[in-house]
Amino acid sequence: MQTRMFINGQLVSGQGEPFSVLNPSTGAELCRIPEASPEQVAAAVAAADAALPGWARTAPKDRATVLLKIAEVVEAHADEIARLESDNCGKPYSAALNDEIPAIADVFRFFAGAARCLGGSASAEYLPGHTSMIRRDPVGVIASITPWNYPLMMAAWKMAPALAAGNTLVLKPSEITPLTSLRFFELIGDLLPPGVANIVFGRGASVGQPLVSAPQVRMISLTGSIATGQKMLEVAAQTLKRTHLELGGKAPVIVFDDADIAAVVEGIRAFGYYNAGQDCTAACRIYTQSKKYDNFVADLASAVSTIKHGLQDEEGVELGPLVSAAQRDRVAGFVDRARAQKHIEIATGGRVVAGGGFFYEPTVIAGATNDDEVVRKEVFGPVVSVTRFSDVDQAIAFANDSDYGLASSVWTSDIGKAMRVSAELQYGCTWVNTHFMLVNEMPHGGMKKSGYGKDLSMYGLEDYTAIRHIMIKH
Ligand code: NAD
Repeated sequence: MQTRMFINGQLVSGQGEPFSVLNPSTGAELCRIPEASPEQVAAAVAAADAALPGWARTAPKDRATVLLKIAEVVEAHADEIARLESDNCGKPYSAALNDEIPAIADVFRFFAGAARCLGGSASAEYLPGHTSMIRRDPVGVIASITPWNYPLMMAAWKMAPALAAGNTLVLKPSEITPLTSLRFFELIGDLLPPGVANIVFGRGASVGQPLVSAPQVRMISLTGSIATGQKMLEVAAQTLKRTHLELGGKAPVIVFDDADIAAVVEGIRAFGYYNAGQDCTAACRIYTQSKKYDNFVADLASAVSTIKHGLQDEEGVELGPLVSAAQRDRVAGFVDRARAQKHIEIATGGRVVAGGGFFYEPTVIAGATNDDEVVRKEVFGPVVSVTRFSDVDQAIAFANDSDYGLASSVWTSDIGKAMRVSAELQYGCTWVNTHFMLVNEMPHGGMKKSGYGKDLSMYGLEDYTAIRHIMIKH
């Protein structure tokens, strides 16, 4: 089991306190990894800082060549990485192998090409006798902080654009699911000059906080919770670092009477429960128009009750455990408090699965209102709520009445209605008659408390650059 960090081109063991990493399907310990000591965090930042001038000067095509090689390494070790990811997250092995690995390889390929297209622009003379041009330079050393739900994919989303734009970085993966990121650095270490990309292991308070606070770090890129995002802003305020925050979500799904209800049920069955619902874009907050509401709840509950949960390698398994006992208990708490409300019905599921591992039944909650906690807060588990609405205005009002603004979807056969609703939803992404689909060419990112800054796409690359103006007097 890979338990070493990668600092300045060297694989090193942590010198801090050892920390347990578990398999959530069984609760068994996979390994113990010592955290980075404060000196090791400082050494990683210093290495990234020292490597910055050289890497920033590399020609884009040479950076692209490295990123293309990284994509090849990911594919060559697809089986090993997918197995490690499914062991550490509990997710079905087939999902890790067939969904995540191709997406990870492609994100490196996309940003390899994008690196060569990132340009400034030469402009005409805005002032007679002077020519202006724009440069897009690297921001500097980036602290990249990732969550536990898609560990290596989130690392790839951060590393690929940062490296493509000529930055150097120190990655700190989630202490709960670090294994693929650590192994990844072992595999790609030789492809990069020492110090360009470094990884340190440990918890947020003991390792993440000193990393993001280091004065040489010029940008903090976090995917995580709102609370951690707020901490990052406090740190950034001290030295005016740039922040890029991909935070929580609570995606509304608006289902009009004229929608293809069978397709909606199939979509929510797939995308409300994918990765055990531990996804910031999960289709978890359903608003269904009155006429179809009762039938819809019955159809959805019946479909969801057939979702097969089990161990990563079981034939046909669709749903794994929650990532930790704490996360499972948190999910159970939301459902138990909902059950205690008279107007709420647990249409299916609603119980912890007995036995080993941190499993929770796929659950549908009906009758919840927009004031109920289970509708307002991010549950981050296999739990979907269904709420009734009467007309278009009410659907938009319900959907927008949220702290979050990451992803949303509208299901209708009326294109005019789809256009109007998507224009009025305050979300970084709105899908029409689908949900959950991401492509590396298009931006992903939130509004409101879901954060700001874009992952993926040319917008994502630009977020990792500093715009500079050069003016030449003739
Ligand atoms: P978290 O905020 O608890 O942890 C995220 C990372 O931040 C971890 O690596 C953690 O160690 C680190 N961290 C915590 N405190 C820190 C500190 N003081 N300084 C530096 N680093 C610190 O989030 P999580 O529980 O790992 O992930 C779940 C959250 O992530 C959910 O809210 C989910 O919605 C969000 N998420 C968002 C997206 C998106 O694209 N918007 C994608 C995936 C997950």
